[in-house]
Amino acid sequence: MRPGTPAPFHKGGDSSLYVRRVIIRVRQAAAACALGAALTACGAPAAPRAAHPAPTATRATPSRPPTLAPGPTGLTPVFSNGPRTHGRTVALTFDADMTADEGARAARGERFDNPQLIATLRALKVPATVFMTGRWADEYPLQARSIDRDPLFEIANHSYSHYAFTGDCYGLPTVPEDRMRADVERAYAAFRRAGVTDAMPYFRFPGGCYDRTALKALTPTGVTAVQWDVVSGDAFATDSDAVARQVLEGVRPGSVVVMHCTRSAAPATERAVRRIVPELRAKGYRFVKVSQLIRSAGEQR
Ligand SMILES: [Zn+2]
Repeated sequence: MRPGTPAPFHKGGDSSLYVRRVIIRVRQAAAACALGAALTACGAPAAPRAAHPAPTATRATPSRPPTLAPGPTGLTPVFSNGPRTHGRTVALTFDADMTADEGARAARGERFDNPQLIATLRALKVPATVFMTGRWADEYPLQARSIDRDPLFEIANHSYSHYAFTGDCYGLPTVPEDRMRADVERAYAAFRRAGVTDAMPYFRFPGGCYDRTALKALTPTGVTAVQWDVVSGDAFATDSDAVARQVLEGVRPGSVVVMHCTRSAAPATERAVRRIVPELRAKGYRFVKVSQLIRSAGEQR
């Protein structure tokens, strides 16, 4: 499928899934998609905003990452944006995609990383959350560790293999239900192997594709699923101004923006960030990590 094709969001979904309380457990501490179908998957459109009302907090305990409580039926909670009335904050998120079978392409020189993007975020002092696949951490352990150790950033989980957790998700191979939990845990194991010590309990579904079965399968992992409300459209994009415009027009207080950090498949992202950051700051926005938005969601109660 081509970039921009609508994603099959919330198949079999139930809006009541998204009405849930937050238990705030605060910790001080959280790629461009692969080419082809995998990249398309990462450029998926936003989930309907109305489906994700801001959660409310029940308590706060220092030293653990803020997470959402499971839904009423014990399903993995889903977060897609922070409070709209809690100040002008916005979280830039970057998916570090690499599909499990792309090792040969990396060996031939294809770059699934984007060190210049990370350097620009550092130079501009922009906090960010990197949703990393385990396969990416296996390929770029030094970068994974460096991102983890930089307080500006947090690493979260984007599966090990970047395979889909539903059928019919941009042509991605599908993780069978009985392997979903293991795929997420395999990514955390890859992070640890790379020397990442502070990976956050947040999970982004490849392609943003999930359903009730996937949410149920991941409940034992304790992750909060993190979607987004602003699509940058950076997958395959070559016009950085178009990407920047799309972000600037989409951002609202509490927004989560999805972008990618893979040089080969999202080549305009770094340039777009250099325009997005000063323009949003000029509008009074402050950049935060996803964990800070989730914490704010709790404090809003
Ligand atoms: Zn992805």
